[in-house]
Amino acid sequence: MKSTADVVIIGGGVIGASILFNLGRLGVTDTLLVEKDLLGSGSTGRSQTICRMHYSNPVTATMAWESLGIFVHFGEVVGGESGFVETGYLVVVNEEDRNGLERNVGMQYDLGIDTMQITADDLRDIAPMVSVGEDEVMAWEPQSGYADAHMVTSSYGIRAREMGAEIALKNPATEIVVSGGRVRAVVTAEGRVETPVAVVASGPWSKGVLAQVGVDVPLVPVRHQVASLSRPMDKLPLHPTVGDIAQSFSFRPDGSSLTLMGFGPEEEVELETYNQGVDMDVMADALGRLTRRIPAMAEAEFRRGWSGLFTTTPDWHPILDAVPGIEGLYCAVGFSGHGFKLAPMVGVTMSELIVEGISSTVDISPLRFTRFEEGDLLESSYRYRVLA
Ligand SMILES: Cc1cc2nc3c(=O)[nH]c(=O)nc-3n(C[C@H](O)[C@H](O)[C@H](O)COP(=O)(O)OP(=O)(O)OC[C@H]3O[C@@H](n4cnc5c(N)ncnc54)[C@H](O)[C@@H]3O)c2cc1C
Repeated sequence: MKSTADVVIIGGGVIGASILFNLGRLGVTDTLLVEKDLLGSGSTGRSQTICRMHYSNPVTATMAWESLGIFVHFGEVVGGESGFVETGYLVVVNEEDRNGLERNVGMQYDLGIDTMQITADDLRDIAPMVSVGEDEVMAWEPQSGYADAHMVTSSYGIRAREMGAEIALKNPATEIVVSGGRVRAVVTAEGRVETPVAVVASGPWSKGVLAQVGVDVPLVPVRHQVASLSRPMDKLPLHPTVGDIAQSFSFRPDGSSLTLMGFGPEEEVELETYNQGVDMDVMADALGRLTRRIPAMAEAEFRRGWSGLFTTTPDWHPILDAVPGIEGLYCAVGFSGHGFKLAPMVGVTMSELIVEGISSTVDISPLRFTRFEEGDLLESSYRYRVLA
């Protein structure tokens, strides 16, 4: 491993890998990414990887939309493959959330995002397998879908390495050395790296990494469950991706014959000891909701399940910023269960912030570090916050 670098990134999830690649695009290639395990082994590898644009705030809606373009044109923009599959995305809310949905769709429309409010009649043409009640309200995004977490993360890593970056796996960062109010080095299991810039992109572990330099960041790990189901292919060859805010869960197709369902209560857990499997009673309840939404899923078969961690902040939005008080320290943390879809633009904006001192492609100041102490939190139009 090199002993000096212009930038050291701590964490090789989709966020760290995207920042590493984008630094290279800006000409900063004397870089090192350290990962305590393998690329994508944290939240990224457990993600449902849904890429939808429906958000309550322009900053995240814009980042999701710009990121979608990168997922779709990944070969040209990055190189390698993203595994993006266009499925369309349906968001369903109860009548009581009508105003929130209309507000979000209007905001997205003004941003140029391909979305529209639809009626139950429209839905019969678009996705006749999906069943909705008279008291439910919907929006449709024809271009949304899902991508492949490992393809995206490893493609970013490979391209960054081709530009000169180094990636050190199985190599935890054990200390960020700060003196005189600025970053001097990062100490890892393999040795010390002198650097003026450290970027914390350590997912659920970020609170501990930052605490070690006296920085308190309000991150809480929340468990989320995923089940992989076999579809009855004779009755249900395909379906769109659905954000079912009315029933507080989501699902998407997975390849040609599987469906991935994400569900579970907002359960705060301990990072190292949480249950990484699924709760079968909670899964059965979610399956009931899925069957209500797509009756043919009554014949679905459970194949396997797992749990992963959302790294939540008080407003369920990420923190993309320089860390105040320590020159050269940056963080891209707290993605609160929706960071995969934003990752391409997180890399673009964070690399601009690090290299040019300001993110010019998208104004990420609403996601600044100090917003919690300032009481200037982002707001969601809905109760189930991860869905928008
Ligand atoms: C079940 C589930 C479903 C999800 N579904 C979606 C979805 O549909 N759409 C969406 O957009 N988002 C979704 N997300 C959220 C998304 O997956 C995350 O926001 C995103 O993957 C976060 O990436 P990351 O790189 O910040 O974190 P991680 O992937 O956790 O990466 C952090 C990395 O840092 C490493 N690390 C930690 N400490 C150290 C250290 N000291 N030294 C070196 N390395 C270290 C870890 O090993 C890890 O690999 C979901 C998440 C989960 C858990």
